Amino acid sequence: MKRKLAAGNWKMNGTGADLAELARLVSAHPDPACEILICPPATLVHRAAGLSQGGTLKIGGQDCHAAQSGAHTGDISADMLRDAGASHVITGHSERRQDHGESDAAVRAKSEAAIAAGLVAVICVGESLEQREAGQTLAVIGSQLEGSIPDGITGDSVVIAYEPIWAIGTGKVPTVEQIGEVHGFMRDRLAERFGRSVAGAIRLLYGGSVKAANAAEIFAVGDVDGALVGGASLTAEDFSPIVAALEASS
Ligand code: PEP
Repeated sequence: MKRKLAAGNWKMNGTGADLAELARLVSAHPDPACEILICPPATLVHRAAGLSQGGTLKIGGQDCHAAQSGAHTGDISADMLRDAGASHVITGHSERRQDHGESDAAVRAKSEAAIAAGLVAVICVGESLEQREAGQTLAVIGSQLEGSIPDGITGDSVVIAYEPIWAIGTGKVPTVEQIGEVHGFMRDRLAERFGRSVAGAIRLLYGGSVKAANAAEIFAVGDVDGALVGGASLTAEDFSPIVAALEASS
């Protein structure tokens, strides 16, 4: 049975003192009806994994290199994240695509490395405002899915996050119809490439300005299996009601 996923991306926020938020989150959801994942900065992955209470709370990285090891100063491999206690890693977040020029091919290579290391790759796709206004949303998403997702995936090895760039950190959220359209499209495209059974098992997350006030209506949309949350995942006070809304929809 597919478990829904509430994922938090702390981005470049958090030092050791913020790990207390994880302890608060775990005590608010000791036996969650959905999966809970937090992706703190790399400096906190090991300590966060130690607080994950036997796996109730999953810990992930925010990026990995495509190579296993080598002369890549400042980078971190999927094996290293796994060794530090991570179970997941985000690949292809729009901030990495924009700030670091990551192409679909690069995202695919990172996702392949993640899966080979035994991590779940949380692969992000999403259109810009210009692309949406030009009516190109589905074409953009289709091409990102095609280029960023490795061959041979299973329902357990990847999660796909639809994150419209214009909704990230802006407080703007697509309508439920717009979210439903993209998620239905993604499910169909995955089914064409990987078959209905694999496509049906893959968790499709929505991300972009999710908060307590809008979580329940987003989780009621067909083919939404959870959320990838930035700003509202930084404290247990903000993230816990989102987790609770997902649990209620499970
Ligand atoms: C994100 O960066 O993945 C994100 C969805 O951010 P926010 O929730 O802050 O819009």
